Amino acid sequence: MTSAAGSESGSPDEFQPAGGKLERGLIWVFIVVPTLALVPGVLFAWGGWIGWHDIVLLVAFYVLTTTGIGVGYHRGFTHGAFKCKRGLKIGLAIAGSMALEGPVIRWVADHRKHHKFADRDGDPHSPWRYGTTAWAVTKGFVFAHVGWVLWGQDRADPAHYAPDLVNDRDMAAISKCFRQFAAISLLAPALIGALWDRSWHGAATGFFWGTLVRVALMHHVTFSINSICHVTGRRPFEARDRSGNVWWLAILSQGESWHNLHHADPTCARHGVLRGQIDINAWLIKRFERLGWAYDVRWPDRQRLERKRVTVV
Ligand SMILES: [Zn+2]
Ligand SMILES: [Zn+2]
Repeated sequence: MTSAAGSESGSPDEFQPAGGKLERGLIWVFIVVPTLALVPGVLFAWGGWIGWHDIVLLVAFYVLTTTGIGVGYHRGFTHGAFKCKRGLKIGLAIAGSMALEGPVIRWVADHRKHHKFADRDGDPHSPWRYGTTAWAVTKGFVFAHVGWVLWGQDRADPAHYAPDLVNDRDMAAISKCFRQFAAISLLAPALIGALWDRSWHGAATGFFWGTLVRVALMHHVTFSINSICHVTGRRPFEARDRSGNVWWLAILSQGESWHNLHHADPTCARHGVLRGQIDINAWLIKRFERLGWAYDVRWPDRQRLERKRVTVV
């Protein structure tokens, strides 16, 4: 391992913040290739190279992985906004792993560090790290969006930031199997597309839409929470950082872009607390609660929110 923090902590390799050369190379491939696929994707769609099977695969895998990250990795495991039964916990951790954003323990550790140092020294991905001039913010934006994953030096030590997950046998096992879940996520749309269409063409379009386009879209929406939502957006609540609410990302991020409220009240299970703020992840947590799979949910506390309110919007 190359990480100094990793060598100090003594926790197993798969939980360490920085990968070796091969892993960093693979991260480049998994981020850059699907992004490049977006451009021909639009042209292919124009030319009719998309069927309703492909749209179903794209939406299904997008919602599955976005839920794994937003409901599981983020609101549940990082912030403890709710507790869940073992089956749901395992399901969410696997769905999050399929988003190709890293093993659950490493993701949670980085995100807890982000909240601890938000937009100050030590934040793994603040767009303000280089300063406030136009050029500094441009550089910072690219870093916060994607650079921190590729060359960031402020990654968190999981043994320090996520000891609860390191000591959870299910989470440790799922983190260890990250590569296998990533492989399933990459190949499943092609396999389903082939069986559904009974053709190689179905496999090819399934892979293109269900894997490449889905991963690119999902990655850039998630990355935007770190970049766009820390640069712009309304700030109706008091937070110690520059987090903002970005309405036009609300549907695609399933509610994660109500980021100002989230930084003002991080353990709250609902991020879209104001009138008209759609929050699909909160809706899903409510469904899980009704099914008895989620409990001890921290729903918004009106008085608490009023105290944090700074402006009427
Ligand atoms: Zn943030
Ligand atoms: Zn958070």
